[in-house]
Amino acid sequence: MRTEVASLGEFGLIDHLTRNNETLNAGTLLSVGDDAAVIDQFGRQCVISTDMLVEGIHFDLAYTPLKHLGYKSVVVNLSDIYAMMAVPTHITVSIAVSNRMSVEALDEFYEGVYAACERYGVDLIGGDTTSSRSGFVVSVTAIGEVAPDKFVTRSGAKPNDLICVTGDLGGAYLGLQLLEREKKIFMDHPDVQPDLQQQAYLVGRLLKPEPRSDVAAWLDEQGIMPTSMIDISDGLSSELLHICNKSEVGCVIYEDKIPAHNDTRAMAMQFGLSVTTCALSGGEDYELLFTISQDEYEKVKENPHISVVGHITIADKGKQLITKSGNQHPLTAQGWNSFA
Ligand code: ADP
Ligand code: MG
Repeated sequence: MRTEVASLGEFGLIDHLTRNNETLNAGTLLSVGDDAAVIDQFGRQCVISTDMLVEGIHFDLAYTPLKHLGYKSVVVNLSDIYAMMAVPTHITVSIAVSNRMSVEALDEFYEGVYAACERYGVDLIGGDTTSSRSGFVVSVTAIGEVAPDKFVTRSGAKPNDLICVTGDLGGAYLGLQLLEREKKIFMDHPDVQPDLQQQAYLVGRLLKPEPRSDVAAWLDEQGIMPTSMIDISDGLSSELLHICNKSEVGCVIYEDKIPAHNDTRAMAMQFGLSVTTCALSGGEDYELLFTISQDEYEKVKENPHISVVGHITIADKGKQLITKSGNQHPLTAQGWNSFA
């Protein structure tokens, strides 16, 4: 019998492959199922996360400068470390290189890798290099540290907690739509150079994301320990469902509270898309989604980078979106599903 991978989807496949995974070491504090794993080494806690980017699936070299790709490959992993409320310290970078790529091209890629290392204070400590017959593949592993038992998982949200997001959402998805549209135009009319100057914000959201180290540090300084946290790589909906499922709770979020940049709103209109759909299902924003106890509201409302978008409920209430017109819809999400 043969089961197609597509029938399980990405999350179903991970669940399937890890359903019998048992951990043998006492030092394994947190295993599969969060933004990063946590291991205890003689009292110090170490956080580990890994992500793979594949040409043609996650990026298109037609419009992705290699320096940006190098930078992004690192920061998407750092985002997972910050999403544990940990601080990244080291990375490894593994590449499978197709014969289309020159040493100069790889130098550019590494310029981006080193720029991210410098900006976020992490050391590149190794990796692996091999060849590929089907495009460029990058796999980065990030390692970070956290004070004993101060890491924040996806599973601690409690009814009445407030649901918070950082920055604004949906921009990266519209940046992608924009670049895909310009690519098509360029393929049909190679003499027309796209003018993306006006859209620097949206294109930047896709090509040069920054992890929210600032908000993670601020929460720490304020002594605010979120009850749960995840980074938004697959769209708000998908990430919120992860938190609800892992925490065994429900949620209510309000459409009019979901933060969006003006450029995102304008471009969504141009594409005839709902800005809410872009935020809920778009992905690649690399913002943080977290829950806090209501007692922290006074502090959090002073931070311009944080929006409160709703609250956690008991599981029986389900996962709901209240629209601008006051209607209630169940939240559903595929997230970014590379098998779909
Ligand atoms: P994220 O979107 O934060 O990168 P993923 O959805 O990729 O997280 O992964 C969810 C969890 O499943 C993580 O704990 C990850 O380490 C684990 N995981 C993903 N793929 C595999 C695999 N092939 N084998 C074991 N664990 C995996
Ligand atoms: Mg993550």
